[in-house]
Amino acid sequence: MARIEMQEVAHSYHGNSQNLEDYALKRIHMTWEDGGAYALLGPSGCGKTTLLNIISGLLAPSQGAVLYNGKDVTALPPEKRNIAQVFQFPVLYDTMTVADNLAFPLRNRGVAPDAVRERVLEVADMLDLGTVLNKKAAGLTADAKQKISLGRGLVRSDVAAILFDEPLTVIDPHLKWQLRRKLKEIHEQARMTMIYVTHDQVEAMTFADQIVVMYEGEVVQIGSPEALYERPQHKFVGYFIGSPGMNFMACKAEGAIAHVNGAAIALDAALAEAARKASGKLEIGIRPMHLEVHDTPMADAVPAAVTFVEDHGNCRIVTLALDGQTLRARIPEGQTVPGDKAWLRFPPQWTRLFADERLVA
Ligand code: ADP
Ligand code: MG
Repeated sequence: MARIEMQEVAHSYHGNSQNLEDYALKRIHMTWEDGGAYALLGPSGCGKTTLLNIISGLLAPSQGAVLYNGKDVTALPPEKRNIAQVFQFPVLYDTMTVADNLAFPLRNRGVAPDAVRERVLEVADMLDLGTVLNKKAAGLTADAKQKISLGRGLVRSDVAAILFDEPLTVIDPHLKWQLRRKLKEIHEQARMTMIYVTHDQVEAMTFADQIVVMYEGEVVQIGSPEALYERPQHKFVGYFIGSPGMNFMACKAEGAIAHVNGAAIALDAALAEAARKASGKLEIGIRPMHLEVHDTPMADAVPAAVTFVEDHGNCRIVTLALDGQTLRARIPEGQTVPGDKAWLRFPPQWTRLFADERLVA
């Protein structure tokens, strides 16, 4: 088991460059707590695999250090770090049977044959591979091969951590859902540190207690699904998490008012204070489900035009034009949707302010 610290880690695939643009990882300074179930979430190309390979030791970072339980392992190769890694595409021995593939990491460590047999059966059972144990891996479907790859990652119970790099990409959707639950169960039983890389927010939320969100080579937030939803620390988290994502509008603050072009949005004392202190490009952010849409004028409400209504069955997503800005609101079933003119309220407890893309209030 391991607590993994990353100290000022940065990585460039172009040597030790002076140009920040060359860095696939800009500055990662964080801790993966022992026994945590983490998802590492971010769009393609943001540096997830690079970060994972630095944790496992497949890649040495250009700068910074990696510590396992306080010990510097930056210079140690993967086999010295006692880690299991499952890659995006199956890595296995085609000419060996499924059982031998699963047994490989154990035999490699000199585990006694009886114990190997027992553990292989256990893992095969967990992943429904029991019926193909004596088949050669070569002839199996892509799904089955990836399950074997997962099994090889899970077979050792003495690893410091298991790293999964988008392991369910080639798996069909229903099985994906089952395997994700299975991985969560395994984590609950074994309580080993697990880091699960994905670009899919639903996958991240079903697996992890803590989600680490990456964007352009940086970790922009670490938090529970609820924290990411309610208090995104960076604009990227606002629009990447939630469907549709958070609304953002550029504004200019003046006392207790945020001016969005011609519209005046009332701020409470805390928001007004944060706006006064903030420097840089100021934006208001609000989740579609928190934006209040009324069909009659009322105090603190600004007029907007309804431009589009999508019926999603359990709710409607309304697109609104507010003085040249587009906003989306999520209106629960049973609540009326205004015809063409609407009045919008921004409840202060759900209204966020961002300066240069970072949350300020
Ligand atoms: P992700 O896993 O989030 O999709 P990666 O870590 O694979 O992202 O890549 C991060 C950035 O580093 C991308 O811009 C990618 O093109 C670049 N990159 C990844 N691997 C290499 C490599 N071996 N050589 C050069 N650039 C690379
Ligand atoms: Mg990747």
